[in-house]
Amino acid sequence: MAGPTTRTVKEIKVDIDKCTGCRACEMACSAYHAQPRYSSINPAKSRIRVVTDELNDEYVPIRAGDYTRAECSGRHVYTINGKEYSECSFCRASCPSREYFIEPDSGLPMKCDMCESVPALDEPMCVKVCVADALIYVEREVEREEKPQPTRGQIEFGLESLVGQFGMEAVIESLVKMSKAREH
Ligand code: SF4
Ligand code: SF4
Ligand code: SF4
Repeated sequence: MAGPTTRTVKEIKVDIDKCTGCRACEMACSAYHAQPRYSSINPAKSRIRVVTDELNDEYVPIRAGDYTRAECSGRHVYTINGKEYSECSFCRASCPSREYFIEPDSGLPMKCDMCESVPALDEPMCVKVCVADALIYVEREVEREEKPQPTRGQIEFGLESLVGQFGMEAVIESLVKMSKAREH
């Protein structure tokens, strides 16, 4: 039977002109993800951080994205309405160039999970507490695209990167294990 033809994309629209730098979003996110929930508030454990340059009256809320092993060797500098912003101000990476999005106790990278939980929230915590309306939650339906079958070249390219990272022996061992697991 054919599956659903659309999927839901969740977005948080950020209006940096409205952000006051109050950092309520950081506190709410860290409290929501504390164990047990709401047991502590620590912006260093937040998955949203407000990049702040008070002298220039700049506040840019960014949510944690993927982990990257190395910082960029070259970075863009953006000029927006006469103000200069470093690429890092908009970058969501958990990256060694800064302390954002690295869990201070474990040292592990953190990533925004859109506050997905059971029961589900009607909107993410950072959006709920942003009284300036700098963060707006939006859900939209988009057409589900048929995934093209990977070509042989793409598969080999992916395998090569795994081999480079973990070594041929470990990759073969994992493939054999996966294949055996599928047989059962
Ligand atoms: S709660 Fe809203 S206004 Fe306050 S820092 Fe976060 S995004 Fe900016
Ligand atoms: S924060 Fe982003 S842009 Fe800045 S160095 Fe790290 S990966 Fe590059
Ligand atoms: S959506 Fe949830 S997890 Fe993501 S930054 Fe906002 S409060 Fe944190």
